[in-house]
Amino acid sequence: MLGLMQDWPLTVDRIIDHARSWHGGIEVVSRSVEGPMVRTTYREIHGRAKQLSNALLSLGVLPGDRVATLAWNTGRHLEAWYGIMGIGAICHTLNPRLHADQLCYIINHARDKVIFTDLTFLPILMEHRAKLDCVEHLVVMTDEAHMPADYPAALCFETLLAQHGADCAWGGFDENTAAGLCYTSGTTGDPKGVLYSHRSNFLHTLGTMGADVLGISARDVVLPVVPMFHANAWGVAFSAPAAGAKLVMPGQHLDGASVHELIETEGVTFSAAVPTVWRMLLQHLRETGGQLSTLTRVVIGGSAVPEDMVRAFRDDYGVTVTHAWGMTETSPMGTQSSPNRAVAAMDAEEQLRYRLKQGRPPLMIDLKLVDDQEHVLPHDGQATGRLKVSGPFVVREYFREAERAILDADGFFDTGDVASIDDQGYIQITDRAKDVIKSGGEWISSIEIENLAAAHPKAAMTAVVAIPHAKWDERPLLLVQLKPDERADRSEFLQFLDGKIARWWMPDDVVFVDHIPLGATGKIDKKLIREQFKNHVVQPIAAGLSPEQPNAEEAPADAPGPFPAEAAEASPARASTLTMVALSGALMGAYLWRSFGPVRR
Ligand code: ADP
Repeated sequence: MLGLMQDWPLTVDRIIDHARSWHGGIEVVSRSVEGPMVRTTYREIHGRAKQLSNALLSLGVLPGDRVATLAWNTGRHLEAWYGIMGIGAICHTLNPRLHADQLCYIINHARDKVIFTDLTFLPILMEHRAKLDCVEHLVVMTDEAHMPADYPAALCFETLLAQHGADCAWGGFDENTAAGLCYTSGTTGDPKGVLYSHRSNFLHTLGTMGADVLGISARDVVLPVVPMFHANAWGVAFSAPAAGAKLVMPGQHLDGASVHELIETEGVTFSAAVPTVWRMLLQHLRETGGQLSTLTRVVIGGSAVPEDMVRAFRDDYGVTVTHAWGMTETSPMGTQSSPNRAVAAMDAEEQLRYRLKQGRPPLMIDLKLVDDQEHVLPHDGQATGRLKVSGPFVVREYFREAERAILDADGFFDTGDVASIDDQGYIQITDRAKDVIKSGGEWISSIEIENLAAAHPKAAMTAVVAIPHAKWDERPLLLVQLKPDERADRSEFLQFLDGKIARWWMPDDVVFVDHIPLGATGKIDKKLIREQFKNHVVQPIAAGLSPEQPNAEEAPADAPGPFPAEAAEASPARASTLTMVALSGALMGAYLWRSFGPVRR
């Protein structure tokens, strides 16, 4: 017997309909690409999105067609999203930080029919337009006064809207209809498309609105620094209008000064961004003595949040940090580190241990931790294994890759992350599977070392990667980007780590670099660093600090890795592994591959 409740498909046009009807006068404020601040409302955004739908229909866009956006977070971008999705077309967000070749690959793979672009990215599209064999129209998101004269074939966003009325029917299709498309950054292999449905976006919105997740309310002023062009701006472009929160769109200026100015002038209470953005803001505040007078909560994710950042927000500015984990394939919100009752009852320092973890899964996210033989591992905070995820807004299959099975027998997707889960249900990501450092058959967490090193007062940013090692297969190398005008020597950093990590985790070398390269999604580009440093020759460091000269007494009895003799003698089980390493590097490689399994991407 079926229930007798209304059939009300969960399509995302209903979100902006709701915002228009019940929060119509609430502001959406944008720092425009042309420069000035632009103030509009949900009512106006709704009307203009309908005009945009009519414009798309006039250009021949049909349900299921892909319409791409290459744009910063602005009100116009919001109008494009809702205008595209409302008529059953698919909004494909393009990440401008990708290499041009990858962008072309993605556009052609998706068969994008129309591209909406900000002025910023028009030159790159025009330069490579000969490689794009599917794009019929290019719409520049600006007004007639700012249209560049040298691209006469491009259409002007404002002119196009002005030619069309706001009378357009939205929705009326199955809630499983595709709504959005986003490609992974392709840091390992070709980018892969994740095709969101209206239903998955709607459920993700409801999930992220929960008090323990983003917890956005009608009293909030929300600043999504996290871009709409990557992983759906963590769903904020849906959850803010759904809640009726004021939205502040930062446009292209994401430096500390610009973000701070927006927070203070618009009264921002809630924001979300990757650690790099917060690092720039905190540095700006320190340099200028600035304050955060309205901000109360920030969500930080995309890569692990360093401890000093949580402390700075908490102690210096009274801002609560929620650490979050997720990925393009999970829409993207997976887990959040909001305290449960047991954690909330702990003192501040004890709570911090949990706040630094990636957090707990909310309703609609289920997690599984498995070893290489797919055995489920205990939630004891110790066992580390591959993290798998399932839920109604988790990927089932990549776009146009039906032949490739990506779920296990229970319907779980392998995230490619290595993690532990504790008895409170908090996950802790120790690494991306491909970034784990495999030393003597044991794993070293690159994330843990780099976050500890990042707390060094002279460090602006740090990265730890594996470098090849004849005996131990791989060893950690620490890269440090110093703060401006700072000088340091390598031993300072090793001294700083001494006692905070196991001796055999100590980096073999420290290299000072001008810039740590970031990938298209703002994460440290470890693939590139590994490539750059694959032939790095380790320089001896002052005695007593080098991991090559370990203090045997300090090494735990079962310490694996580069303290071979002692460890091997202390542990027969380890001895066999270590002997194997010594005997055959090739065999060891095979062993690691088997024990670790193929990695995602
Ligand atoms: P990409 O396109 O680079 O894969 P994603 O945003 O999908 O971009 O990347 C998701 C990955 O980012 C996760 O699988 C995980 O490795 C990493 N990640 C995300 N959030 C965190 C976090 N809070 N701590 C550590 N790693 C994280």
